[in-house]
Amino acid sequence: MSDYDVIVIGGGIGGTGVGALLAYRGLKVLLLEKNSFIGGRCSSYKKDGFTVSSYIHAFSSSDKGALGEILRKIKMPDEIDWVQQSSALLNFKGIEFNLPISSDINKVLEIAKRMPIPQNELEKLLKLNMDMLSLSSKKVHALDELDLKSWLSQHTDNSFVHAMTAFLSAASFVIPYYEASTGEYIRILQNMVAAGQGGYPRGDCITIPQAYCKGIEKYGGAIKLNTEVKRIIIENDRVSGVELLDGKKINSKIVISNVNIKNTVFDLVGQEFFENKYTKYLKDLKYSWSAIVLKIALKKKVTEHTAFIYFPTDNPVEYFQQLERRKIPDEFFLWVVVPSNIDPNLAPHGKQLICCGTPLPYSKHEDWSPWVEQCYTTLINLMPEIPKHQLWQDIVTPSDIERVLGEEGAVIGIAQTIDQVGKNRPSIKSPLPGLYFVGAEAGGWGIGTELAAQSALECAKIVLKDLKT
Ligand SMILES: Cc1cc2nc3c(=O)[nH]c(=O)nc-3n(C[C@H](O)[C@H](O)[C@H](O)COP(=O)(O)OP(=O)(O)OC[C@H]3O[C@@H](n4cnc5c(N)ncnc54)[C@H](O)[C@@H]3O)c2cc1C
Repeated sequence: MSDYDVIVIGGGIGGTGVGALLAYRGLKVLLLEKNSFIGGRCSSYKKDGFTVSSYIHAFSSSDKGALGEILRKIKMPDEIDWVQQSSALLNFKGIEFNLPISSDINKVLEIAKRMPIPQNELEKLLKLNMDMLSLSSKKVHALDELDLKSWLSQHTDNSFVHAMTAFLSAASFVIPYYEASTGEYIRILQNMVAAGQGGYPRGDCITIPQAYCKGIEKYGGAIKLNTEVKRIIIENDRVSGVELLDGKKINSKIVISNVNIKNTVFDLVGQEFFENKYTKYLKDLKYSWSAIVLKIALKKKVTEHTAFIYFPTDNPVEYFQQLERRKIPDEFFLWVVVPSNIDPNLAPHGKQLICCGTPLPYSKHEDWSPWVEQCYTTLINLMPEIPKHQLWQDIVTPSDIERVLGEEGAVIGIAQTIDQVGKNRPSIKSPLPGLYFVGAEAGGWGIGTELAAQSALECAKIVLKDLKT
């Protein structure tokens, strides 16, 4: 007899989300997390009175998107207190403007006036914006296998529009826009416009997986931290439970893995249980790029901004290709978030926390110090007051992310390239009966955490349907 109806391995957004959804539906759920903390990539820690995101986060559709949908489905809609934020701020060499994506043409016109675009290009941009936002889901999916650069080039060759799109896409998918899927890009923009606002969870990003864990426990499930799964047990060609690092076995006919899909199949199960065609397909899957993240604590506020994207060049192709050739650029593209300006409780009174990140391709033996230095220099050029008031700085390099989360330090998980989204995204249901995948690894769509949350919604649906039949 099974100890549990469902075992979830891993307590990232996908794992905690699907655990909560299934516990709410009456299944006996056990979630096992190897770390001493919940949240995986979406976690936070305390230091000297600051609450610091383990990495750096912003949430494009806050409670309106998949992250909120999980809580609405489990009847805990207000479990996260979202601080709403207006649309994304972009900074191109000192020119600041909001993201010119809206269903209100006058609003887009107003924003577009500030941008260095000639009048005839502006008209094209407006038309593109409106066409894109009104595309049906079917038509958007038809663009899944077209890369964003090629699609954009069909509409404009304006270098500023290309740069803006490329860097926004890089902030969302953490891959160059010549690899990113157009369909996925349009889906996230449509989603942002439908949500109307982004947001940040009061208490920092860890409150999201914590809210889902509360749901798991409220509906009778259990969560064990510091509990690493060593292997998934297979009996009679189907899943029958898991074995922990200490040798303990726990039975369950359903195992949902929030662990990296390749590790799940090759390390936790064993490739002998799968057909060669499937294991070859998995081996070829590509991860998103990694990142450098700087988290800087200041004894005094130096900026009123809450978040912005800084793009230093109007030649994104050259920029990304330079990174691929492992050449450090003069200035980095930066994604800057000031969490304490969004939620003042994240820093002691009068102090400030600034986080910034830049996407980079992973490289195993790289010395990241000069990259970090240049990233810091780019930030200081934008906010020269930082060094004077700096208390300390926590640095995350691709090697650090790789050490904690594997997957070549991937920011997102399985990359949203043209061949890995929509119908080509790895399937949530594995070929092995009883084994499912969840998180930014299989199913879903959207930006990072929302991709993982969407995967959780889809995974719960599939598991419940399979249980019925
Ligand atoms: C630098 C950085 C910046 C980011 N910025 C953003 C952003 O601005 N907006 C956004 O939406 N997203 C952002 N993301 C991406 C987002 O955080 C991730 O895509 C998302 O959180 C992935 O969730 P997941 O469900 O796939 O699980 P993961 O976070 O990958 O969690 C998997 C969990 O499984 C656990 N685990 C692994 N192996 C085992 C085992 N054998 N036994 C038990 N447990 C195990 C791990 O410890 C981990 O907790 C960022 C990520 C990074 C790194």
